Amino acid sequence: MTTEGNIEHSLKAPPDLKMAKRKADQLTWLYSAPPIPVMEIAEMEGIHVVFATFGDYNDKIAGYCDFKNSKLYVNAEDRPRRQLFTIAHELGHWIMHQNIFSDNPDKYPVLLRFSKPSSSPREREADTFAAHLLIPDRLLKPLTPPIEGTVALLADIFLVSVTMMEIRLRGGYDYRSTFLGRRNFRHLCQ
Ligand SMILES: [Zn+2]
Repeated sequence: MTTEGNIEHSLKAPPDLKMAKRKADQLTWLYSAPPIPVMEIAEMEGIHVVFATFGDYNDKIAGYCDFKNSKLYVNAEDRPRRQLFTIAHELGHWIMHQNIFSDNPDKYPVLLRFSKPSSSPREREADTFAAHLLIPDRLLKPLTPPIEGTVALLADIFLVSVTMMEIRLRGGYDYRSTFLGRRNFRHLCQ
């Protein structure tokens, strides 16, 4: 049985972003064209996607993964592309972090995805997983470099935000680095 100390350690261990990309690639290899059907993939991986509102916290929470009940909650009032990102991110937690949380369901019954970005190791893994699930290198490469002015079109093809597409086109593993402050960004680049 895992002790609380071990769980804290598991939460703080350095992120393995290559593992996150590999896990995402394993789920997209059979698709020959974008967009990637993330909801379908989630259901195939045994987690049920539920669209819901979160009362007073609705503007702060994008979604969460309920490990115990195999359910993934998504904010029903978010924009569709943001919802797809939330599903992909939470699916990343379901696939990569289930063991950490299932060993201690009382301490960590759910893992909230806040609207505000987080740079914690497990969150960075989930973000990297989501970025590569939604935009697999294998499907992006034939379309790059994009003709001038087509980044928005590529974002439409993959059903992601323009910002996320720009970051993936720059080769970003960790798309969230752009959202962090300059100091943190520099830290990530070192
Ligand atoms: Zn998360």
